[in-house]
Amino acid sequence: MAQGKRISVAAPMFCGKEVEYVQECLQTTWISSNGRFISAFEESFATFCGASHAIACNSGTSALHLALLGVGIGPGDEVIVPTLTYVASANAVRYCGATPVFVDCEPLTMNLNVELIADRLTRRTKAIMAVHLYGHPAEMDGLSKLARDHNLYVIEDAAEAHGARYRGRAAGALGHVAAFSFFGNKILTTGEGGMLTTSDPDLASRVRILRGQGVDPERRYWFPILGYNYRMTNIAAAIGLAQLERAQDHIRARHVVREWYDKYLAGLSPLIRLPHEAEHVRHAFWSYVIILEDHVPWSRDAFMEQLDQCGIETRPVFHPLHTLPFYRQPQESFPVAEHLAQRGISLPSHALLTEEDVEYIAGCITNVLDQ
Ligand SMILES: *Cc1c(COP(=O)(O)O)cnc(C)c1O
Repeated sequence: MAQGKRISVAAPMFCGKEVEYVQECLQTTWISSNGRFISAFEESFATFCGASHAIACNSGTSALHLALLGVGIGPGDEVIVPTLTYVASANAVRYCGATPVFVDCEPLTMNLNVELIADRLTRRTKAIMAVHLYGHPAEMDGLSKLARDHNLYVIEDAAEAHGARYRGRAAGALGHVAAFSFFGNKILTTGEGGMLTTSDPDLASRVRILRGQGVDPERRYWFPILGYNYRMTNIAAAIGLAQLERAQDHIRARHVVREWYDKYLAGLSPLIRLPHEAEHVRHAFWSYVIILEDHVPWSRDAFMEQLDQCGIETRPVFHPLHTLPFYRQPQESFPVAEHLAQRGISLPSHALLTEEDVEYIAGCITNVLDQ
């Protein structure tokens, strides 16, 4: 790596027809939420996931909100949510007037620990939110069985999992409904944006109406229900379609980065734990997360500070939601999530990294651990 260059933790890659398609929006003046790119992006994205319907939204959070509304989550309901996730997973539940009920995660995949869910179910539980954290699919067999036994919906938060697979099936078609994000740091991006996928046609038509302010599809300016403006713009969809046309390049690049990290960090295994990929999944590697083992004398934050001084931007693992002021549950303890959150670091993970960058990052990590 050149001296003085900073390596960012995330970066978008534009290797397709992004500029051409955006120019078309401007030249044709179709810049708002009508235009050919929206339907083209939706149709291609549905095919990409193997779902029957895809509905473009203006963020991953709005897609999650619509997914929950789509299965009928409302006031008084409870939804199982992992405590270790991005805050939007729980916020979307609160937007419905429902309550997120937190559950601890498994140490290896960092996803919902299926065994701990049964204890948290009540008469009010309506759904389980299966977050594919950092791109590793949640344990869908266990979650689906639990959901069948207790008559619950499974909602995938696939915001970090474009291209991930579980037993050969794509994220986005593993539960009743799923939500993706296209924020600037995600595997595919539209700047801001999201997508809901489902194979339930009734859910899809309800959600299309809710996305567009609740307007009656047969009667203009007639609003029989409370809806939202969660529409994606044609410009965002133009970028999204161009990204999706090159999806395999975006997905492959992250696997290559992962292989480089695995290679250059392999010797450090007594000191740091590398990401786990279960046998029956394909991890999307949205983020390559390492865990500092307990006997490493560095605090996580001091370790990150050392890397920062080498020009390497990193990120801490998410704060477990039960520790945030809005969701604080001081009486609850989720020891696995708390431990991962104290010792976990997201390393730079994006498609523009070179092998030289990863070798440099691994070299800096080695030096810090040697001190
Ligand atoms: C990014 C993300 C979201 C929200 O997506 P936005 O597009 O930022 O609204 C939801 N859940 C998870 C797990 C995410 O990483």
